[in-house]
Amino acid sequence: MIIDFHQHIIVRQSTDPASHRTAEHVLAHLRHHGGGKAVILPNDRGESVAPSFEGQGSSEYDTELALDAWRQWPDEIVPFCHVNPLRYDALDAIRRYHRAGARGFGEHKVRLAFDHPACLPIYRLCGELGLPVLIHFQYGVYSYNFEAAEAVFRACPETVFIGHAQAWWANVSAEVRSDYDAPDFVGYPPGPVVRGGLTDRWLEEYPNVYGDLSAGSGWNALTRDPEFGPDFVRRHRSKLLWATDCYCLDGKGAMAGGHTQECFAARTLPWLREHCVSEDHYADITYRNAMRLLGLEN
Ligand SMILES: [Zn+2]
Ligand SMILES: [Zn+2]
Repeated sequence: MIIDFHQHIIVRQSTDPASHRTAEHVLAHLRHHGGGKAVILPNDRGESVAPSFEGQGSSEYDTELALDAWRQWPDEIVPFCHVNPLRYDALDAIRRYHRAGARGFGEHKVRLAFDHPACLPIYRLCGELGLPVLIHFQYGVYSYNFEAAEAVFRACPETVFIGHAQAWWANVSAEVRSDYDAPDFVGYPPGPVVRGGLTDRWLEEYPNVYGDLSAGSGWNALTRDPEFGPDFVRRHRSKLLWATDCYCLDGKGAMAGGHTQECFAARTLPWLREHCVSEDHYADITYRNAMRLLGLEN
């Protein structure tokens, strides 16, 4: 049993059906690694939809795909919803999606400050409704003012925030660069971690803050410093969520373009097996913490 806390269905970013990643691909991916549940994260960037899907509405479309997949495979799919905060009906849409079955909000990947005035009422509503909020933090681009996050975590204590992406995971180290437009800026900083990073401290201090280990950014945080990573997963065993954000179609690395690459699950699950201190610890990170956050515990 595993819960992959970061998966996407992609059918609107290209008009070429051969490049689509459907719910069936998500399920093949999950089942190849032993089966369980996949959290489907829509993302409403407020950008226009591809021509072939005109008329379906970009706000509705991604979330409806997630909900449809859940209706078809209720035991394996966990649907989230997402609405761009600048939409005039954002709060009503979230209430509607919650009633329709959405279990969380995200991937919140928008070109806005994390504490933008339109975002705060959304975070509060998600707290009231029990929807965890999954954030993509990336300097200069998405929820770009990372340092503002602590004040938001304090202001919305009822809301569960799950951090993800480059800025979130670079900040396991206290020595971090935010000068994203410098020519030598790196989003995935290598080498030793200086203890006391913001992400590490926030996971420790805020009961409402969690970390999504997916993608190159999560992997980099775990592996850039062989002393740090194993200690980090031990200290935060109740706050980390295993996830892949892997785009491969089958769990074996087949990509939509016809090439293959290493499946992210195949890389990360063995690392966790090796560095978790017990079967219980491994279970916490690969599914129990997720079950608790999603309200799926018996
Ligand atoms: Zn992301
Ligand atoms: Zn994969």
